[in-house]
Amino acid sequence: MSTNSKIPSRCDVLVIGGGPAGSSVAALLAKQGIDVVLLEKALHPRPQVGESLIPHVWKYADKTGVSALIEREGFVAKAGGITVWNGNISRIAFSEFGFDRPALHVERDIFDQLLLKHAENLGVSVFQQVAVRKVRLDLDSPNIGYVDRRGGDAVEGNITCRFVIDASGASAVLAGKFKSKRLVDSSMRFLSLWGHFKGSRYVAADGRSYPASEVNTVRPVTFVTSFEDGWIWHIAMRQYASVGLVINTERARAMDKSEREGFFLDTLKKAPYLERLLDNAEYLPGSFSQRPDYSYYSTRLCGENFYCIGDAASFVDPIYSHGVLNAFYNASITALAVTESLKDFTRRGRHAQLCENRIRQFYGFSRSLALGEFGGDGVDAELVRRFMRQVPSVELELMLAAASMSERSENFHRLSMHAGLNLHPVRSKAHVMEGLAL
Ligand SMILES: Cc1cc2nc3c(=O)[nH]c(=O)nc-3n(C[C@H](O)[C@H](O)[C@H](O)COP(=O)(O)OP(=O)(O)OC[C@H]3O[C@@H](n4cnc5c(N)ncnc54)[C@H](O)[C@@H]3O)c2cc1C
Repeated sequence: MSTNSKIPSRCDVLVIGGGPAGSSVAALLAKQGIDVVLLEKALHPRPQVGESLIPHVWKYADKTGVSALIEREGFVAKAGGITVWNGNISRIAFSEFGFDRPALHVERDIFDQLLLKHAENLGVSVFQQVAVRKVRLDLDSPNIGYVDRRGGDAVEGNITCRFVIDASGASAVLAGKFKSKRLVDSSMRFLSLWGHFKGSRYVAADGRSYPASEVNTVRPVTFVTSFEDGWIWHIAMRQYASVGLVINTERARAMDKSEREGFFLDTLKKAPYLERLLDNAEYLPGSFSQRPDYSYYSTRLCGENFYCIGDAASFVDPIYSHGVLNAFYNASITALAVTESLKDFTRRGRHAQLCENRIRQFYGFSRSLALGEFGGDGVDAELVRRFMRQVPSVELELMLAAASMSERSENFHRLSMHAGLNLHPVRSKAHVMEGLAL
């Protein structure tokens, strides 16, 4: 990746951030021969939580042309999901939905590095350890102020472009500038705490547990269990398991920040089944991380010369692994809007408006899936229903089945009914399980 090369002073499209959203939009634009510069604050591989990806991501990976690289990396293929929600156990198995490509458990640091490298190979000028500090959105020549830390010093510079795409994740650079970031109402606001464990047993689709060493032979499921204050995930990967919990912000407020790691470890010990999975596992010191302000959206997403995508646009509790999917989806529609706008500048306002509607639709879709209430807060139910009618039925059936595993998603089922969809009634439900043999 560009280490000491000079950052150009002009480009067509400037992308802020090299996560899944930024790398994907940059790759798609570069494939069209568009001159793209991507500035990334960190140096990949950067620390990132281990995550689960659903099979829907492959169609976007195919579009950017990165699928073969992902396959070659050999991430863990997962079989489905099992949840223990208020004592009720349910399971979904991807094989029953007819997907011919696997869902994955990925080390996001490696996954993200791979996406960024792919973008660079397609011709994107990537500069890491370069943080965007200021954005001026002059109509025909937006100007970006950055700090370049590649040589150890902090060197300031500027770059002029025609479009700015903000893919800066939770930093949400443009939403900060616009003051347009809104947290969802407090009952739906969460804090997440997580860490990594070496040698943890994991759960497979048969409801049994297996030693970490078998993760490549017996496929794991993403294991989720609710507890008094929230929910916990267990995601088995090649070298370690990512284990984390999500709690309501009100509960977190009652706790001093210094108590959070202790609370995290204590909660895992008390959670149903978790203590058995982690019994002989080693907690990796220094892997503890947290993310506050879980669940937000921006009221301003696209304009004549800017686009906000991925987590820079919105974030909802990714209980059903919608985060990376959202980033990929936003990237694909934004690449289309920007490509068309560059062909005919007079239509850029129209493309921006259409793109904003699509990003909002997907946000509403994810939110209705993941959170227990619906409406208000930047969501239009009719737009979501319209969006649902465009989602391939197999994808929707999987989301409905996943939603039926928690008690949060009544609204998602209602929306699908009101959308008049003709879905497979059995496939749209998770299987109830009698017990687990962990
Ligand atoms: C605890 C937790 C668990 C999750 N689990 C899942 C899961 O299982 N499955 C799933 O699909 N999703 C999950 N998600 C959501 C997923 O991580 C995000 O939705 C996804 O990372 C969004 O990608 P992005 O590219 O928008 O942002 P990011 O991945 O955050 O990338 C943004 C990039 O911008 C860079 N940046 C920031 N500021 C600047 C700046 N000023 N200048 C230059 N660069 C900048 C950052 O360094 C970063 O590399 C989870 C999220 C959390 C917090």
